[in-house]
Amino acid sequence: MATKKQLEIFFSDKIHNPCPRCGHRSFSIVTETDETPVDFAILSHKEDAIFTSPYMSCYMVTCDNCGYIDLFSRAFINQKIQATGEDHK
Ligand SMILES: [Zn+2]
Repeated sequence: MATKKQLEIFFSDKIHNPCPRCGHRSFSIVTETDETPVDFAILSHKEDAIFTSPYMSCYMVTCDNCGYIDLFSRAFINQKIQATGEDHK
């Protein structure tokens, strides 16, 4: 699991477009505590779903101006952050 600080670094490196709804450029990572990003799951009950499990775990980011929500794959981001950390060892 990534910390809020690791996600802030990841998003500042990868995300460059403003909010798709209002054009604002300030976003917040949704957390349970100050440093623990919330674990939001997308459920899928379709038998032909492409997922191998019934849910997909996500990080949640909201626009500070209008509240628009974006979801990002935890598995994908955790893998990228882990790979980046190993590059710097
Ligand atoms: Zn917005």
